[in-house]
Amino acid sequence: MSRTQLTASQLLDQLHRGEVTAEAVADDFLRAIGDRNTLLQAFLHVDEDDILQQARQVDTRRRRSEPLGPLAGLPVAIKDVICTKGQPTTAGSKILANFRPPYDAHVVERLRAADAILLGKTNCDEFAMGSSNENSAYGPARNPWDPSRIPGGSSGGSAVAVAACLAPLALGTDTGGSVRQPAALCGIVGLKPSYGRVSRYGVLAYGSSLDQVGPMSHDVRDCALLLEAIAGHDPRDATCVDHPVPRYAQRLDEPFASLTIGLPREFFAEGLSSEVEQAVRAAVEVYRGHGATIREVSLPHSKYALATYYLVATAEASSNLARYDGAHFGHRSTDHRGLIDMYCKSRGQGFGAEVKRRVMLGTYALSSGYRDAYYLKALKVRRLIRDDFDRAFAECDVLLGPTSPTVAFSLGERVSDPLAMYLADIYTISGNLAGLCGISIPCGFSASGLPIGLQLLAAPLEEEKLLRVARLYERATDWHLRRPSLPS
Ligand code: GLN
Repeated sequence: MSRTQLTASQLLDQLHRGEVTAEAVADDFLRAIGDRNTLLQAFLHVDEDDILQQARQVDTRRRRSEPLGPLAGLPVAIKDVICTKGQPTTAGSKILANFRPPYDAHVVERLRAADAILLGKTNCDEFAMGSSNENSAYGPARNPWDPSRIPGGSSGGSAVAVAACLAPLALGTDTGGSVRQPAALCGIVGLKPSYGRVSRYGVLAYGSSLDQVGPMSHDVRDCALLLEAIAGHDPRDATCVDHPVPRYAQRLDEPFASLTIGLPREFFAEGLSSEVEQAVRAAVEVYRGHGATIREVSLPHSKYALATYYLVATAEASSNLARYDGAHFGHRSTDHRGLIDMYCKSRGQGFGAEVKRRVMLGTYALSSGYRDAYYLKALKVRRLIRDDFDRAFAECDVLLGPTSPTVAFSLGERVSDPLAMYLADIYTISGNLAGLCGISIPCGFSASGLPIGLQLLAAPLEEEKLLRVARLYERATDWHLRRPSLPS
């Protein structure tokens, strides 16, 4: 087995024992990126010299027996909506093609403090708007299990980086499913933390009442390690909760005295592929075999989740994206007559079609005369969706269902049908609307060899329980050990 196929925890053990240097590890991943990134387009930016320099510094400090952080020497890929000081941060958009932020996002500061190696910036849908990575202005990333298929989105590049063994760990962001859905379609683990668990300082905002940064990894242990490194209070994000961060990785294998798993009826309805349903139902039996009580529950308002999400998310996006005006940073049109024309041309040239669609939908929903009928109504329905979950969590520890209704579809298949594309997130968006934490873990493969993901949801700030429930399944199965075979 090549070193790039190991989990982050296995690599950490080798680094601790001195069997390998951080520089050799970085070198292996850089070589893998060199071999496979042209095909897979997972990374938009990789600064080889900077990466090797970070690794050598860790090695030097280890040789001198200086104290090192918990991720010392581990490469982590970063979604390109997360600011990295002095390194390009494009959000997959032409409008930020030349943007190099003067500061690091909070999560990047935390990774540096943990002595992780920042491996590069990963491809994504423009401003994280999309479910297939096809909205990236730089071309889509490709699914390593079948490069003619999408990897999911919007954190597609991060999912591909981990699945194709170009990075052992990655960060994504999840506004409506963008960590969990690509994790499911690429056969890896992805976790969306509860709203407020991780600071968004320095993360380019999409839907501010929904956005969270989340870890992506080969297995649940690695996911817990990375979450531990990035979670916690930061006064620079006013929505970030001041709540202690448990040692998630430490209690993963603790058995449950009792465990009740809820199956929302609405998550097994029309539109769910039978292969996905079979794999998820088989996973339910694994839990039952381990003594879990399985209970059917109902989330009656989930039929409104997609409509609610596309009002709330687009309304917030339209106001967040107003800052890209061509005047302060990012692309500015060179040929314009006056200020208003400069705004129009800069935005017209800089944004792609889906971003423009979202800005228009959101502006419409917020405009005078429509605000009460659309935006305020959506906020009320959002509350009802949250109440459904509160009722379910009063009788269940976690909820279980599919992450995505289908396996990865072909590139190009849904680009001209926005509604079909939006349906890819039907099971993930309600977790964001309600501020829950959720995880996707591998639970099988389709007949055509494509990964299937299982989603577990827990109440806000119940990440520790969520990870333990996920780990219970992982211990009993070996889906997470598979790696795609790739031409080099
Ligand atoms: N696909 C959803 C959207 O386009 C979710 C994206 C996300 O979570 N960033 O809005």
